[in-house]
Amino acid sequence: MAKQGTVLMTALPFCHVLYDSERGKRCDECFELRPDQLKRCVSCKFVSYCNKTCQQKDWLDHKKECHHLRRIASVIPIERARLISRILYKIKRGVIEAEEWNQFDDYPERTIHHVISHRELIKQDPDMKKKVATILFETRRFMGKDTPSDDDILNIYGKLIMNAFVICDEINHPIYVGCGMYIGPCIMDHSCCPNAIITFSGIRMNVRAGTDIAVNNHNHAFISYVDLLAPRQERRAQLQPDYYFFCECTRCLDDSIDELMLSTKCPNNNCEGVIIKKDGEFQPCETCGAASFSSIYATLAAETAQWSAATFQRLQRCEQDGRDPAEILAQCEECLRGQDEVLHPVWNVHRIRLMDLAAMGHMRLEQWAQAAQCILVTLPAKRKYFPANHPNLSLQLFSVGKALIYAGRCDDALPHLHEALDMISATHGNEHPLVEQVEQLLTECKSEIKKKAAATTN
Ligand SMILES: [Zn+2]
Ligand SMILES: [Zn+2]
Ligand SMILES: [Zn+2]
Ligand SMILES: [Zn+2]
Repeated sequence: MAKQGTVLMTALPFCHVLYDSERGKRCDECFELRPDQLKRCVSCKFVSYCNKTCQQKDWLDHKKECHHLRRIASVIPIERARLISRILYKIKRGVIEAEEWNQFDDYPERTIHHVISHRELIKQDPDMKKKVATILFETRRFMGKDTPSDDDILNIYGKLIMNAFVICDEINHPIYVGCGMYIGPCIMDHSCCPNAIITFSGIRMNVRAGTDIAVNNHNHAFISYVDLLAPRQERRAQLQPDYYFFCECTRCLDDSIDELMLSTKCPNNNCEGVIIKKDGEFQPCETCGAASFSSIYATLAAETAQWSAATFQRLQRCEQDGRDPAEILAQCEECLRGQDEVLHPVWNVHRIRLMDLAAMGHMRLEQWAQAAQCILVTLPAKRKYFPANHPNLSLQLFSVGKALIYAGRCDDALPHLHEALDMISATHGNEHPLVEQVEQLLTECKSEIKKKAAATTN
């Protein structure tokens, strides 16, 4: 039995690379954010580190890469090709294990060779043709005369597609900072309603039990490979080409959650009821009984869902590329106005995901009241769609608490911060730096409330 919050596994990456978008802001070894104190590798001038210790830690992985970076000088290698080359050289040096610890009873000792590669499937997959060609070209160009056979490259690429993890900085509002191959954690299977959760502390990955797990075996612990706010069709569409399986987890077999995720609002203007579709048919409103749906309503619902999904993906990419937050926010707001006509304001995930982007934009622009409002609207749905103690929910509670304090609404911030503290202790562990941050905010919040109370009594 693994109690909720127990660390099931902790692992350092076998190999990892920092994303180019974070280059110069973070250390290439530990991913710590220190824009002004980084020291560049004098030889390649490409990677940079906090200090000598970080540089030395990375040296064996960087040594060969450093040579190639100098060789191809002006051409920036794609991140995947760098990661592939790091892994290939590491195996060549005879290193095949990563530093990790787990508490599973049935855990088989694993090396990089045990990590599954779908090399053959990838080779035969017509949709992968272009990606495979790019990877082979980029890896060959980067590794020069050290390039191994195409099969060797594809073997590692096949492992990465299935098993690389995106590394997230959860302290400076969650952003993706790099990716890495973690040998142990990728033994766990996927579920869209996972009972094990992944968090990062720098490059260290921790896997914790999100709920009590009856047996301490790795095949009873499930993590999620996809965005849990995506509707079922989108989750499956992502899992099939990337992981070569059709998800039939409990969440995917439960129609009711998916129906709610795609719900529209009652065509009766005075009603806030939820309209769901079963087997392609709109069901009567449970609040007011409205049962007639015009063809205009049906078309509007279908079209709005379609462009919303596309817009979200486009704007999310802009966000990740660090584009102007004011511009992204303006587009989000326009899109939200369009959705407002037909999508359900509380439960529809297309709406929630855009609200999240809008909240992010407001936070970047330090518009705290608006940021708080955007997050508050999405909390009921997130409580329903995320499994208990999911880091996305705990981080949202933290963000909303912070935004409310900065917006001068300390009374409203307090309950959210208390909840965030409890949940973050469970999702990230008491020793995670986020816990200290929430505690500091709580202290700040309480003292503000006291000050205000004193001012009113005087
Ligand atoms: Zn460092
Ligand atoms: Zn270098
Ligand atoms: Zn599923
Ligand atoms: Zn109604």
